[in-house]
Amino acid sequence: MRIAMVAMSGVRAQSAELNALGLTFPGVLERGRVIASMPTLSLLTLAGMCDRERHEISYHEIRDLRAVGAGEEPPPMDVDLVLIASQSAQIGDAYRVADTYRAAGVPVVMGGIHVSCRPEEALEHATSVVVGEGEPVWPTVLADAERGRLRERYDASEVGEFDLGDAPLPAYDLLDPSEYNRLLVQTSRGCPHRCEFCASSILLTKKYKTKPLERVIEEVRQITSMWGASGRPFIELADDNSFVDRGRARALLRAMIPERVKWFTEADISIADDPALLDLMREAGCRQVLVGLESPRAGGLAGLELKRDWKLRQLDRSEQAVRTIQAHGITVNGCFILGLDGDTPDVFDAVYDFIDRTFLFEAQLTVLTAFPGTPLHERLAREGRILKPGAWDRCTLFDVNIEPRGMTPDELQRGLLELAGRVYEPSFVESRRRRFFEHAAAHRRAMSANGIVA
Ligand code: SF4
Repeated sequence: MRIAMVAMSGVRAQSAELNALGLTFPGVLERGRVIASMPTLSLLTLAGMCDRERHEISYHEIRDLRAVGAGEEPPPMDVDLVLIASQSAQIGDAYRVADTYRAAGVPVVMGGIHVSCRPEEALEHATSVVVGEGEPVWPTVLADAERGRLRERYDASEVGEFDLGDAPLPAYDLLDPSEYNRLLVQTSRGCPHRCEFCASSILLTKKYKTKPLERVIEEVRQITSMWGASGRPFIELADDNSFVDRGRARALLRAMIPERVKWFTEADISIADDPALLDLMREAGCRQVLVGLESPRAGGLAGLELKRDWKLRQLDRSEQAVRTIQAHGITVNGCFILGLDGDTPDVFDAVYDFIDRTFLFEAQLTVLTAFPGTPLHERLAREGRILKPGAWDRCTLFDVNIEPRGMTPDELQRGLLELAGRVYEPSFVESRRRRFFEHAAAHRRAMSANGIVA
């Protein structure tokens, strides 16, 4: 059976003004571009479960559907099955691709977080949908496809929680090494927190679960062996919250040290409480950690984390936490959400001042976005505060599609643009980075003077 795996990987803001400014202020869409330039791990993982003697697999990315045929290579049509994965912002394009395949008589399976949250919508375009994690149902999907008996819906929750110990080795070999300089390795799935807006793997799995260390290292080695000749790629841990389990974190970090790779991950600010962990992270190759700070003010953070108001309870220590992590030579990419319910127009200055005081190496500015399947989407829909319901192409994190409480939608969109102009202004970026290096060097000197670092 010939199987095409198609990833919709481009991330574009809808606002023409924002896109135009993105050219002037490269940081605005920087993270979006990084994400767009990485392969889709879920597809490579399912490809890793296929019997390559019986299944001929190919992997394709569509970064801009409008460019297919005019620069972008179209995915092949002469296949027996196509599997499509897409985030919400590109789901309309994904449905157009699905329609094209189905019109040509090729069965289409769709999966991922958006499809899991809107299976009925996806079934208007796909032959079958996978709801939840893909691994537990993929063997059944393959068997049914081979028999020409695909069902409409494959629901992972009917099979039970997937054990990451059973995770296959992703089929990195399907990638062209010359096209990527950053690759993904997943070491955990889920998160113990429950933020109202979060559209990550917590929508696919209720449990926080981890992959066995030997498997993580095997994946790292697979990547370094394939990319050896063209230089080691930067690795991004595809986790939503690494290092929740500190004992396991230390074991993983120690195992990473001999691999000599540089990597990025996402974690919450509690890692700042553990200087020994931060030292180990740096030694193991961690160069940047993305932290969801969300807001520098209590009004914005209140009620954001639904279990214990955890994000609000971190506010008093968040500035010091950023400084501590950065002192260990690990840059922080701090994420902020503008337009939270407690936000008024003075939040833009508050965010700028926080970034300045902590000299955040990188800052990611986004607007509150109601992704399908999130408690936030349900609440805002109930309150009639979604401007264009179902306009998933506005789920870019940059385009306002909600009625904020403390300002108008226009004030929020303008506020993002103006703040982005100030935060990504080259002299401000340079000053933050200079202060980061000075701060980390001072910390090293202090440690050395105390005999802690040679
Ligand atoms: S801490 Fe991050 S990953 Fe965890 S629920 Fe909140 S936003 Fe999602």
